[in-house]
Amino acid sequence: MPDNNNKDSNNNTCADQPQAALTIDEARNAILRLIPVTTKTETVSLANAIGRITATDCHAVRNIPPFRNSAMDGYAIREQDLKTDRRFKIIATSLAGHPHTNHLSEGEAVRVTTGAAIPDNADAIVIQELVNKDADTFTTNAVVKTNQYIRNPGDDIADKQQLISANSALKAADIGLLAAQGIEQVEVFAKARVGVFSTGDELCDSQQTLKSGQIYDSNRITIQSLLKKAGVDTVDLGICRDNRSDLQRMMELGTEFDFLLSSGGVSVGEADHVKDALENSGELLFWKVAMKPGKPLVSGKLHNGAFYFGLPGNPVSSMVTCIQFVIPAIQAMSGVKFQTPISLQAKSLSELKKEPGRFEFQRGKVYNDENGELTVSTTGLQDSHVLSSMTQANCFICLDQFVSGAKQGEQVSIILFDSYPAL
Ligand code: AMP
Ligand code: MG
Repeated sequence: MPDNNNKDSNNNTCADQPQAALTIDEARNAILRLIPVTTKTETVSLANAIGRITATDCHAVRNIPPFRNSAMDGYAIREQDLKTDRRFKIIATSLAGHPHTNHLSEGEAVRVTTGAAIPDNADAIVIQELVNKDADTFTTNAVVKTNQYIRNPGDDIADKQQLISANSALKAADIGLLAAQGIEQVEVFAKARVGVFSTGDELCDSQQTLKSGQIYDSNRITIQSLLKKAGVDTVDLGICRDNRSDLQRMMELGTEFDFLLSSGGVSVGEADHVKDALENSGELLFWKVAMKPGKPLVSGKLHNGAFYFGLPGNPVSSMVTCIQFVIPAIQAMSGVKFQTPISLQAKSLSELKKEPGRFEFQRGKVYNDENGELTVSTTGLQDSHVLSSMTQANCFICLDQFVSGAKQGEQVSIILFDSYPAL
C-alpha cells in the first residue's frame, strides 16, 4: 500500500555499524518518520466502520435533534398560562413518531412522551408525576421553568457542523452520530496488508504432536490477535525454519504486503538469522532498543517495499514490541498519529527490582485499596518468557531507563492495558 518509496530510509540505516540501543521514542520515531500515509481509501457501510480511520472530515447535513421535542413524559403547555389558571385541558396526544404540533390556545395542553414533537408555541413541559389528572383535564402545582425539559433543534449537533475529523478511529458513538444524520457510509483509509510468521526450528503447529525439544508456536496467534483487536487484518504465513535462505524466501513475500512481521531469531545466537537476512533483502533501520522486555528488535525496509519487523522470540517481548512499535507503525500508514498512552501514578505494594540501563515494562495488577488509593502489585516473575504475567496483569508498571527499581510504597508510573488499542 505505500504509495511512495520513501528513500529517506537511506539516511536512517545503520547496517554494518555497531549500534547503541535506541530509546523507545527514538526507535518509534525512526520508524514513524518513514511510514507514508496511504492515499488508498474505500467506502464502508456504518455496520463495518467500527475502528476504521476516517479519510475525510464528516459534516452534519441536518440539526440534531431535528425538531423541538420533549425530554420527559408529561404535558406540553404555554408557561404563561400557569399564571392565570392551573387547570389545563388536554387537547391531543403527541407520541414519538406520531407528532401533534398544532398551536396551543390559552389553557390547553398536549400529552407528550419522551422524544415526541411539541407544539411550536409550547414552551414548558409539566412532568406527569406532578399533575392531578381527571379525564381530559389536569391541575398542577408544579414549579415550571420556561424551556425546561424541551430539546431544541441543533442543541446536540448543528447543521453543517463538523462531526468527525479526518484521521479519526471511529468509535461506537461516532458511528451513532453519523447514523443520526441518515448517513449510511463513510470513507476510510484502506487497511494495511500485513503478513505474520514465526521463526524457529523448535516450533510446532497445534495439529502436530510435540517431540522432544519442541514447543507450540504461541507468538504468531498472539501477535495476530493483538493486531486484530487493534483493527489490523493479517495473513498467517506459518512457521519459517532457522536458516537464512528460508528467511529470505519469506522476505520475498514483501511484494504482497505493506508489513511483514516475524518473531524469533533476532538475538545473537547461531540460529538467529533475521538481521542478516534483512540486511541482504533490504535496509536495516535498527536492531537494539533500550527496553525490557524487547531489547533485540529488528526493524527495516525490504527492497520490495514492505516494512519489516523482526520481533523477539520470547512471548512477552514479542507482545510488548508489537504494542510499542508495530501497531503505531501500521496505524500510521492509515493516517493515525501516534499518541503516547496516558500514564497514572500508583503506589507500589512491594519493592520492584530493576537494573539501570533499559526502560522496563513490568507487568502489574492495579486496583483501588481499601482507602481508595491507586495501588499496584507486581505479577511476580518478570522474565520475558513468562507469558502468564501478561494474562494476570491489567497494566504495565513503567520504570525509567536509568532508575534502579522502586521501593515499597513509592509512587510509580503505570499504563492501563485498556489504554492500548491492542490489549
Ligand atoms: P529466539 O529469539 O528465536 O532465540 O527465541 C527466544 C525464545 O522464545 C526461545 O525460548 C524460543 O523458543 C521462544 N520462542 C521463539 N518463537 C516462539 C514462538 N513463536 N512461540 C513461542 N515461543 C517462541
Ligand atoms: Mg529462535
